[in-house]
Amino acid sequence: MVAARMFDRFDEARIIGVAGLETMIGELGARGHAVVGPVRRDGAIVLEPIESVVDLPRGWVDEQTPGRYRLKRDGDSWFAPVVGPQSWKQFLHPPRQKLWTVRKSDAGATIEPEPLATEKYAFIGVRACEIAAIAVQDRVFMQGPYVDPNYAARRANAFIVAVNCSRAASTCFCPSMKTGPRATAGYDLALTELSGGDDARFLIEIGSAAGQSLVEALPTHPATKADIEAAAAIVAATEASISRTIDTGDLPELLKAEPDHPRWDDVAARCLNCANCTMACPTCFCTTVVDESALDGASASRSQRWDSCFTGDFSHVHGGAVRQTPKARYRQWMTHKLSTWHDQFAMSGCVGCGRCIVWCPVGIDITEEAAALRRAV
Ligand code: SF4
Ligand code: SF4
Repeated sequence: MVAARMFDRFDEARIIGVAGLETMIGELGARGHAVVGPVRRDGAIVLEPIESVVDLPRGWVDEQTPGRYRLKRDGDSWFAPVVGPQSWKQFLHPPRQKLWTVRKSDAGATIEPEPLATEKYAFIGVRACEIAAIAVQDRVFMQGPYVDPNYAARRANAFIVAVNCSRAASTCFCPSMKTGPRATAGYDLALTELSGGDDARFLIEIGSAAGQSLVEALPTHPATKADIEAAAAIVAATEASISRTIDTGDLPELLKAEPDHPRWDDVAARCLNCANCTMACPTCFCTTVVDESALDGASASRSQRWDSCFTGDFSHVHGGAVRQTPKARYRQWMTHKLSTWHDQFAMSGCVGCGRCIVWCPVGIDITEEAAALRRAV
């Protein structure tokens, strides 16, 4: 299946080497983009500004299991580590954003809205599941009754270089969410690493006019049939290696029908309500607002900050919090992700990246919780 899909879309595929990748990073910078990519820091692969291929985590791989993440040296690939603790949402939907400032003067008070976001990012190394996560946030922030103008401005300026996964973590389950491991849309360029090292070769697919324009500025040559078949085989092997699954079949209905199932007590006894899963999740979008006053009393400002349905205050309304127990909060999070998100946005709130499994300090696994509920029912 994967091979057939790739053949359909690889008519104009090109090959680029390491020097070409270096030129790509420089050219994106020259076109006004802040180039961001995977970087090894503090024992993890994080997303930071990059200036050169030397910033990429060449020769490192990640080991990910529930509640555990480690890097180790292995091989000579440029893009072996899959998704890490951070996601692209921290750039498109930042953790903190000032909304407005109010200033006091003799004439009264003046409200100054923050200027519209002007960031122009180029993301290098976006995985298929992460493109799906960006599409989820597009739906939330741009395709409903209220459009977030800052998200929309950053999104309009963003250039996406996808990387098809040549390996997967044990926590990945993108095939069962139909989001990966191959990027099929939503990118400007997509790379498949055919070989690593100094002589690395990457197959490039073009996904947009901006991507076409960039490729014309790069040293590339046409891909051969053998290159296309090799790329298809790499992605097919990655997909075949993914064993973690979630049966989404009637899951939305099942979750809604079982609010009092004893499994919710079981998971609540393990859950720390730390909110790590929501911070790491690339689709979670909830925020709160924070007001701050200057010490001289002359001004005050309002900021938007990431929040989480796991915090006690999140569901606070007049008279107290609606969801007062860890059980209520975990049930809300998982039911929203896999069930009521469909009602609200006509799509799943989970893209199968596995971050919530890895970065949960006690290794709670959303796929196992869904399977346990299904088994018990
Ligand atoms: S719920 Fe977990 S697996 Fe699903 S998108 Fe969020 S972090 Fe990834
Ligand atoms: S499921 Fe895990 S990461 Fe999420 S709040 Fe509970 S303990 Fe924290």
